[in-house]
Amino acid sequence: MDSRDRHLGMNRAISRRDFLNGVSVAIGASLLPGCTKTGEPIVAGPSAYYPPAEIGMRGAHPGSFEVAHATVQGQHWAAEKTDEHYDLVVVGAGISGLSAAYIYRRDVDPNARILILDNHDDFGGHAKRNEFTIGGRTLIGFGGTMLMEAPHTYPAVAKQVISELGIDAGRYDDYHHKDLFASLGVGYGVFFDKETFGADYLAIGDSDSDKVINDAPLSEEAKAELKRLFADEDDYLPGMTPAERLIVLESYSWRGFLEKFAGMGEEALTYVQKWAQGNWAIGADAFPAWLAWNEGLPGFAGMDLGDGEAKGGEERGGVFHFPDGNASIARSLVRKLIPGIAPGNSMEDVVTANFDYSRLDRAENVTRIRLSSTVVELRHQDGKLDADVDVTYVKDSQARTVTASKVVWAGYHAMLPYVCPDVQEEQIAALGTSVRAPLVYTNVLVRNWRCFVNLGLWRAYCPGSYFHNIRVNRPVSIGDYHYPQSPDEPTVLHLQHIPLAPGLTAPEQFKAGRRALLETSFETFERHVRDQLGRILGPGGFDPARDIEAITVNRWSHGYAFSVDAKSGDVAWYPEKWRHESRPWVDARKRIGNIAIAGTDAASSAMTEAAIEEAHRSVHSLVAEDAHVP
Ligand SMILES: Cc1cc2nc3c(=O)[nH]c(=O)nc-3n(C[C@H](O)[C@H](O)[C@H](O)COP(=O)(O)OP(=O)(O)OC[C@H]3O[C@@H](n4cnc5c(N)ncnc54)[C@H](O)[C@@H]3O)c2cc1C
Repeated sequence: MDSRDRHLGMNRAISRRDFLNGVSVAIGASLLPGCTKTGEPIVAGPSAYYPPAEIGMRGAHPGSFEVAHATVQGQHWAAEKTDEHYDLVVVGAGISGLSAAYIYRRDVDPNARILILDNHDDFGGHAKRNEFTIGGRTLIGFGGTMLMEAPHTYPAVAKQVISELGIDAGRYDDYHHKDLFASLGVGYGVFFDKETFGADYLAIGDSDSDKVINDAPLSEEAKAELKRLFADEDDYLPGMTPAERLIVLESYSWRGFLEKFAGMGEEALTYVQKWAQGNWAIGADAFPAWLAWNEGLPGFAGMDLGDGEAKGGEERGGVFHFPDGNASIARSLVRKLIPGIAPGNSMEDVVTANFDYSRLDRAENVTRIRLSSTVVELRHQDGKLDADVDVTYVKDSQARTVTASKVVWAGYHAMLPYVCPDVQEEQIAALGTSVRAPLVYTNVLVRNWRCFVNLGLWRAYCPGSYFHNIRVNRPVSIGDYHYPQSPDEPTVLHLQHIPLAPGLTAPEQFKAGRRALLETSFETFERHVRDQLGRILGPGGFDPARDIEAITVNRWSHGYAFSVDAKSGDVAWYPEKWRHESRPWVDARKRIGNIAIAGTDAASSAMTEAAIEEAHRSVHSLVAEDAHVP
């Protein structure tokens, strides 16, 4: 620890610093109760076991992935056969797996005995809730799946589930303090860091505004290029028909297009490199130009490209954001599946409802949820595809086998062939086309957010920094949950980091990023948090050593789901606009005897509506007459 570290507050007692490295430390967060920075237990729920209150390394937390990795590497498990039999076993307690259980009971058998298994210490998968307690008050953050994007465009089956949960996604305006930030005079900003741009400089304004660029540490040439890009009036492909232009867009990355046709230099390209990263988990170097156009990013408005440009969620008709993101959807599903686990029945009371985790896996439940349980084998008995399925899982280092009449696999495609010997060659190849983009969502509890108001900022794009985006959480009060509207109250900040390796193809970057994530210690994340927040917010009065109360890093090594075309290597970023005839995700999701496949890999679409739609499809395929119904 040097003086710089002390200045940042690295010597302050933050719980979970003991996780030097997520891989090598055997003790799992699930074994420990939530702690404040002083080490006092947080009393957050009626049961002592209450994972949302855990802080430190979350997401793919230590203890959640080791068994799966060992299985993929060939480890076999000697299992104890139990006498547990279920009508349905669901692998994965994310929104897709929980929806599958819910839909099975609704559409197939209201009395079905169901077991849901998940390797994490909490349910919800990516839809993860993070809680922080300070001064007797609980603040909520989202550790993954952030919001419902354009929920009015959801497919009917997803809309139906959401509505049956009592959630009216059209009511965001009832809960969103949409004038709060404006009333405090805070807006967007851009932080230029000295390592990348030569000087630390915070500009206030939209990232695509001249205001931000005018005094930025950029050359006059780069400023002129960016201003031209923001004005977006030039035709960079003159003399071409719209169809010819589209061919060009399909052949270049956004960065490649801007460099070759729009004449942008290195500084301007660095500025936009991470622009689309929050939504797509990839930088401009591997983000297709046609998708950039489709997303309404600059560079294309000055030329005729025909119809087809779509806008992001906010422009397409709004979002719905719970304080814990879509964890409120997961919690609502669990509340339906396990009566008595939490009080209430509305979209408002679910936000603060206490969940009694000791009720998740009781023998008397019709639906049981067993956490910290990694499924390592799925095998039809006697190799017959119409027979029951032996489901083997590992919990607390012990392998056990239960039997199931039907199974829904709502985990990752890529793992299924390692777990299920009944998958045929062709389907193995299709399952192998699925890739996952890694992401890190970090939540930081701070004593107050006055510094943001002093600077006129609530959210900053940071093109050169470790976290490309920092923000005060969206101001939403719902039910008994009250957003800290005064900047003098404690609040939760949200910081995003996407580990990538620019220059490689997108799938290669995801792989490299995943490896880097597992090798990054909590301490490294913490140092970046303290350093970056200190440099951005310090001029507003923020002191990282004094003002940071807790840090939770949600590490998602297997984040957004995409398929890849085996021949071209193209990523199916947007399945509806996929230009190849192949649909590897459709080939991959075919039912295997009594095992059906749900999850977002099955749609090549990392979206909540896809998770629910695939749950619906998989359940209905399980009970279809024809065993080969896709
Ligand atoms: C950081 C982040 C932010 C996101 N933000 C949004 C957003 O704002 N809006 C949106 O619509 N979507 C968002 N998504 C996409 C998100 O993936 C989906 O919306 C949805 O939550 C996925 O649900 P799922 O059930 O298919 O998968 P998951 O949530 O991944 O759940 C699958 C579960 O199965 C478990 N599992 C896998 N293998 C096994 C095994 N062998 N044994 C036991 N359990 C296993 C996994 O660990 C996991 O818990 C985001 C994703 C990430 C990573």
